[in-house]
Amino acid sequence: MRIPINEVTPAIPSAEVCGWVHEVRDLGGLAFLLVRDRTGIIQVTIPKKKVPEPVLAALKSVSRESVVRVTGAVKAMEKAPGGRELVPESLVIVSLAETPLPLDVSEKVPAELDTRLDARFLDVRRPRVAAVFEIRSAAMHAIHQYFHHEGFTAITTPKIVAAATEGGTELFPIAYFDKEAFLNQSPQLYKQMMMAAGCEKVYEIGPIFRAEEHNTTKHLNEATSIDIEVSFADHTDVMRILEEIIVKAYAYVYRSCPDQLANLEIADFAVPKAPFPRLPYAEAIEIAKKGIDEPIKYGDDISPAAERAIGAEMGGHYFIVDWPSEIRPYYAMHYENDPSICKAFDLMHPRMELSSGAQREHRYDKLVQQISQKGLNPESFEFYLRPFRYGMPPHAGWGLGAERLVMTMLGLSNVREAVLFPRDMHRLVP
Ligand code: ATP
Ligand code: MG
Repeated sequence: MRIPINEVTPAIPSAEVCGWVHEVRDLGGLAFLLVRDRTGIIQVTIPKKKVPEPVLAALKSVSRESVVRVTGAVKAMEKAPGGRELVPESLVIVSLAETPLPLDVSEKVPAELDTRLDARFLDVRRPRVAAVFEIRSAAMHAIHQYFHHEGFTAITTPKIVAAATEGGTELFPIAYFDKEAFLNQSPQLYKQMMMAAGCEKVYEIGPIFRAEEHNTTKHLNEATSIDIEVSFADHTDVMRILEEIIVKAYAYVYRSCPDQLANLEIADFAVPKAPFPRLPYAEAIEIAKKGIDEPIKYGDDISPAAERAIGAEMGGHYFIVDWPSEIRPYYAMHYENDPSICKAFDLMHPRMELSSGAQREHRYDKLVQQISQKGLNPESFEFYLRPFRYGMPPHAGWGLGAERLVMTMLGLSNVREAVLFPRDMHRLVP
């Protein structure tokens, strides 16, 4: 029976291990194979005069990154990784790897991100790359667990839709029989409909599609959004949920992924502390004015340079609140006493935006008015507006980008490193 490499100790007299050939070293009378599985590396020591002939034959033809099965005696060996070695009675090549390899898995030769992504199956064999996806999995687990524990219902909404969420141009049109259809850019309208359906607390973790022609280090054309919507809640309620989730995700990664963090050489992993500061948009603009060269004024979107300047000032996670209604979507609720600002917020990491959310306008007449004010035609939103006429509770929610969460958590320089098979303007394969 095959045992995981990290469970092989000198206390076991013999073991069978399976994995990839990390390295082959032939010193004449003695040869070494390093064999790697996802748990670790073991040295296979081959004294050529003492091992059976089929072992020698396999050694001759084996190449790096081939899959092998090795059975043999376990011996203590101080200098070998893990303090033990395997002396093979049998060495079988299960799957021979072609040479040369498109990518050096042992990381001796550094590779460009594009080369890595082209050969992602080899790239992820690297422990430090695998660590990113194991940590992403752990963070998502903590988030699912939180929602489950807090009584949220997990929902799945359609990704093929007939209309835009925000009437924007960032949509991918698709061929859908004889109709015009698009890939959904956000579950926004559907999760709001579930409030009319009486679900009260829903979440969805699923793909969103943005046809933005941004070629940046933080935009993907297919991203993963963690979305919630909560009834009888306002923006401050869902901001508390958001900061709690961020803290939970970090804390769970800190507890459950020490080896992965070590693989990534992250020694100063810090779990953020809630509550995060709430910075009014107007103050954020004042900070940006001092911090950047380009002109910026009240009412402008917060540019990437402004984001970084404000982030440097704030130092950790923070919220930007009280946004001008003019630059937020039609569904954000305006303040009663000053309709020029709305109950919308962004959650920011010092490097970039992580999430946008708001209390939504649930009153039908106001919503129709706000759609018109944005220059959109309420008639084309009939499927969305209909539930607002039959008993819609007040509600609030947000969308949080999973890749940006992982990217900022691990200090990755490019969002593409936080997704297995990124989709961007130039990449559709693999
Ligand atoms: P940005 O202004 O940074 O492009 P946005 O305001 O367009 O983001 P939202 O529509 O508010 O994005 O989406 C909510 C969250 O989903 C964002 O804060 C981000 O974390 C994530 N997200 C949105 N678009 C993308 C994308 N193209 N690539 C990766 N993540 C994205
Ligand atoms: Mg946003």
